[in-house]
Amino acid sequence: MGNLARADTHNPEEREGEMNRTLAIVKPDAVGSGKAGKILAHLEKAGFTIKAMKMTRLTQLQAGRFYEVHRERPFFDSLLAFMTSGPCLPVVLEAEGAIPRLRETIGATDPVEAAPGTIRALYAENKERNAIHGSDSDENAAREIAFFFSDQEVLELSG
Ligand code: UDP
Ligand code: MG
Repeated sequence: MGNLARADTHNPEEREGEMNRTLAIVKPDAVGSGKAGKILAHLEKAGFTIKAMKMTRLTQLQAGRFYEVHRERPFFDSLLAFMTSGPCLPVVLEAEGAIPRLRETIGATDPVEAAPGTIRALYAENKERNAIHGSDSDENAAREIAFFFSDQEVLELSG
């Protein structure tokens, strides 16, 4: 293997075929309308293994911290009202190439733009109430998993 190839595979998280983890949240719209089970089944069919899961209801403070990056966006207050409106279901998922695979499986933010057969195309109500969250990068997946789960909670269930 040449230097160039080694440099390309330096970060184990970026290696092709590597098993890794990402965070999904079944959002309050989907939990409230009884779609959580179908969405979890869809994720398993798409090749993900559920490694950890809990039902929780976010406080304003927690939702604000989770979506910190969107604080200045016009939809921020409405997003927080939605995300705190009822229980949600954070789930740690494992698969090969988990982060891009989940984004592909959930589809575009707005269900009108989501590819047919994706979770948002099937189950989202609109661009805000869009059924599911998926981490968008390795760095955010690690941050978002740690936001909801202790190492113990994820590791205990591995193997
Ligand atoms: N959102 C919204 N209006 C917008 C864009 C986003 O209500 O114009 C909400 C929506 O619930 C979305 C979340 O804010 O899932 C986070 O936005 P982001 O752009 O990160 O979309 P995602 O990564 O979830 O596809
Ligand atoms: Mg996002």
